[in-house]
Amino acid sequence: MFHIYCPYCEEHREEEEFHPKGQAHIARPEDPDACSDEAWGDYLFFRDNPRGIHHEMWLHAVGCRKFFNITRHTVSYEILETYKMGEQPTVGAEHLAREEKTAREGKTDSVQVAEGGQQAVGASDAALASVKGAQA
Ligand SMILES: [Zn+2]
Repeated sequence: MFHIYCPYCEEHREEEEFHPKGQAHIARPEDPDACSDEAWGDYLFFRDNPRGIHHEMWLHAVGCRKFFNITRHTVSYEILETYKMGEQPTVGAEHLAREEKTAREGKTDSVQVAEGGQQAVGASDAALASVKGAQA
C-alpha cells in the first residue's frame, strides 16, 4: 500500500482511490480533417512506453473525481511529482533520462531512486513550492 498526493485534494490518499488513465500531454491535432492518416493514427493509438521517467494522467476516482498528472519512474514506481491538468511538469522526462544515462556511465551526477518499503510518495515539497510559485 502506498499513497498518492492529489493536487486538488491537497493531501496524500491511498492508491486504491486512483486509476491510471495513460500517457499525459497528448495533443489532439488542430484540424483532424487536414492531418494525414499516419498522424491521426499516431494520435489515436500510439503511446510512449519508456523505461524511466513518464508523464501519466490519473483519476482520483474515489475522491474528488478529477483528472491530474503524475511524473512517475516506471522502473522504481517512484512518483516524482503530481500536478493539475493544464500545468506543465517541473521534472522533464528528457532531462532526467539524460541525468540517468550520465549516472550509469559513472559520472558524479545521480538520480534519486525510491527506496523500497511503505513510504508515502507524491510531490515533494520543493516541487510543490515551485508549482505554486509558478501560479502566483
Ligand atoms: Zn482528489
